[in-house]
Amino acid sequence: TLAGKTAIITGSNSGIGLGVAEELARAGADVVINSFTDREEDHALAARIGAEFGVTARYIAADMSKGDQCRALVEKAGACDILVNNAGIQHVAAIDEFPAEKWDAILAINLTSAFHTTAVALPMMRAKGWGRVVNIASAHGLTASPYKGAYVAAKHGIVGFSKVTALETAGQGITCNAVCPGYVLTPLVEAQIPDQMKKHGMDRETVIKQVMLERQPSREFATTQQLGGTVVFLCSAAADQITGTTISVDGGWTAL
Ligand code: NAD
Repeated sequence: TLAGKTAIITGSNSGIGLGVAEELARAGADVVINSFTDREEDHALAARIGAEFGVTARYIAADMSKGDQCRALVEKAGACDILVNNAGIQHVAAIDEFPAEKWDAILAINLTSAFHTTAVALPMMRAKGWGRVVNIASAHGLTASPYKGAYVAAKHGIVGFSKVTALETAGQGITCNAVCPGYVLTPLVEAQIPDQMKKHGMDRETVIKQVMLERQPSREFATTQQLGGTVVFLCSAAADQITGTTISVDGGWTAL
């Protein structure tokens, strides 16, 4: 059980981050939910998780594209035993047409934010002699696709940064690993299914298996609950000596 631990999950008001927050709360951790918005529904989401799992759940707004806000998130949380760097965005374009501001935003949110949050969290973890840093990378942290230059660069970068974090914390009761999901069924992906069905004139099952999961040998999406379960495992005592590595949750994508 993770009772008494505080987990901060960046970019957690939807998708994988939300699934990770829910599974950590189910395991007993107090959770800090985050995104860049500061709406009533964001705070209501935290209240719902707190009530559902009987833990303390707070929403703290902070924009992960801004270094000072990344640092302020961890400072405002006041404790950080588990840090899950999850916030991420995507943009798809050829290198010679890739907008420079999109490149900068992807590198800032998907990679540099983890430097800032980790820098503030590590002294807190060292003071307790226990900590977990889990970086949500991607199959694109290990392999590439065309037109995803910034995303692939950022995700390879976070895999490397995870290894450095592991080396700097080795033997201190702290571990750092990167989780590499393949295609995960998030609301964002779910929303693309009707369009793809129309475009290809296929039914739901066919478009999922033949078009969307073409590179995922299992032809099944990973779920946000499964990603959450992977993070909970990395926070368990069984994972005390798992550090500086990657765990793929990709239905065989990177085995191809
Ligand atoms: P999502 O869009 O549902 O979630 C992204 C989260 O990040 C949201 O909560 C969003 O509000 C937040 N966010 C975006 N910009 C932010 C900012 N500037 N500051 C703070 N929060 C911000 O997408 P997702 O699929 O759940 O993605 C989560 C992570 O998983 C990302 O790092 C993504 O690259 C990675 N990933 C996703 C998949 C997939 O198939 N969905 C596969 C591999 C990796």
